[in-house]
Amino acid sequence: MPHAVIIGSGLSGLTSAVLLAEHGWQVTVLEAHAIAGGLMQRFRRGPFWFDTGFHFITGGAPGGIFRKLASRLGILEAMRFLPLDEARQFRFHLPSGSEFCMPAGIDQAELALQAHWPEQASGIALFFAELRGQLALNPWLGSLVAPGTAPGQHPHNQSVSETLDRCGISELLKDVLGSITGILAMRAERCPLELFSAFGGTAITGSWRAEGGGEAIIKPLIERLKALGGDLLLKSAATRIHWSDKTVSAVEDAQGRIHACDLAIASCHPAEILRLTGEGGMRPSLSERIRDTPDSASAVLVYAALSKPAEGLGSCHHFARNAAGADLYFISPSNFYPPGGHAPPPYLEAMLWVHPDQVAPWRDSAKGRRSDDYEAWKRARETEILADVTALHPALAGTIQRVWSATPLSIEYYVRSRHGAAMGLSHDIGAIGTEPIPRRNRLRNLCFAGQSIGHPGVVGCMISSVILVESIIGKDLRSEILAAKG
Ligand SMILES: Cc1cc2nc3c(=O)[nH]c(=O)nc-3n(C[C@H](O)[C@H](O)[C@H](O)COP(=O)(O)OP(=O)(O)OC[C@H]3O[C@@H](n4cnc5c(N)ncnc54)[C@H](O)[C@@H]3O)c2cc1C
Repeated sequence: MPHAVIIGSGLSGLTSAVLLAEHGWQVTVLEAHAIAGGLMQRFRRGPFWFDTGFHFITGGAPGGIFRKLASRLGILEAMRFLPLDEARQFRFHLPSGSEFCMPAGIDQAELALQAHWPEQASGIALFFAELRGQLALNPWLGSLVAPGTAPGQHPHNQSVSETLDRCGISELLKDVLGSITGILAMRAERCPLELFSAFGGTAITGSWRAEGGGEAIIKPLIERLKALGGDLLLKSAATRIHWSDKTVSAVEDAQGRIHACDLAIASCHPAEILRLTGEGGMRPSLSERIRDTPDSASAVLVYAALSKPAEGLGSCHHFARNAAGADLYFISPSNFYPPGGHAPPPYLEAMLWVHPDQVAPWRDSAKGRRSDDYEAWKRARETEILADVTALHPALAGTIQRVWSATPLSIEYYVRSRHGAAMGLSHDIGAIGTEPIPRRNRLRNLCFAGQSIGHPGVVGCMISSVILVESIIGKDLRSEILAAKG
């Protein structure tokens, strides 16, 4: 039986692991951390369950892409989905103090935008035609639009802002539609239209939560892997990829074990892969690209326990900008349902995208031993973020009881994402190399997976791993997935 070693138990690693195990591979997943799941992991403080990098599943509506993926992977039955308010799944807080609510569904979203901004109806129609066209361009996402939709015109080199300009969309509406790129930790000026269509498009189609948060996806994937005979080794960071003659022979872990393998899949930040292979493990052009490409933005996440349910927040995603123009996202009650389906205690979660340089002064300090000024910086961000949310929802005033937070340093510590990058290497339109990072490079049996390689996000990472495994086993898995009942 051929043996594959997978480095990283995030969504990408586990998806690849299950699919390979299904097709006759002996699979060993090495995970550095004590908890599996990477950014999908969750943790508990008292009665509260917190998610690290999971707030909603795009394409999560019945028949949506996520459900088809989950069905094909054999995990759908184990999941319980939680709908948002379909009529107002996205709530945009406009600079004037008013709001715009966007319903789920591409056609419904377009109609709602046209009803709110009738003078821009034709520009909105042009933009949505482009969005549908982009989805149709990729057969995988094409199922989200009506059959026969004309393919998009600008596949690689146009940003969301440029597209909105080309469609003649006004500044305010540009801001609203552009702020959807916030869910990708990106800005509209730098976000490629293709990426917006894949992630934003699947989000507009329908974003759902899942009871149990990220763990709701990770746990059944792990059970499925184990049922197929695969191994998941926690606290077993890969420390070295052994190779010679352009071929990987084994992966060594932090316990000193050498895992001989026929195939290695590196499913973590590419800078980590570079470290594991050492010089010569990649072509110089790729090593340089990994070193020189900036990382995506990171986030400060604030979790607040409330004395009573947050009034007026509704069951939707909130998008706003703070005074400095940075993207703020908040939701209540989010996914923090404890296992077993009981209603969660009242809490709020808010997230602000930040540049990783903001924590640069403390980057070299060890977790648990960071300095007082770092703690003060963290407290100041918590206060600012909660004040911004409270200004938009005055009913929250006086209800916040306890606060926890995570910073770029937390992300860096828990998943080894360089600079705490939320979405791996920057996917910005201006980043080095317009082509995606290849899934294979110099070592013939070392493959790259994860959010830096393909699209980020739950669906993006899973799709990308499906495409990788297809290339290994030589089978059309995407057709199987599209045919699955979701
Ligand atoms: C704050 C935040 C909010 C988000 N919200 C959403 C959302 O609502 N919806 C959505 O679709 N997406 C969301 N995302 C994005 C999504 O979480 C990620 O795109 C996805 O989980 C990444 O999966 P991955 O497998 O590529 O990487 P990761 O989850 O980072 O997994 C990499 C794994 O590799 C392990 N690892 C690293 N180095 C080693 C080593 N040497 N040896 C062994 N193991 C190693 C890490 O510990 C980790 O477990 C969010 C991300 C963030 C940060």
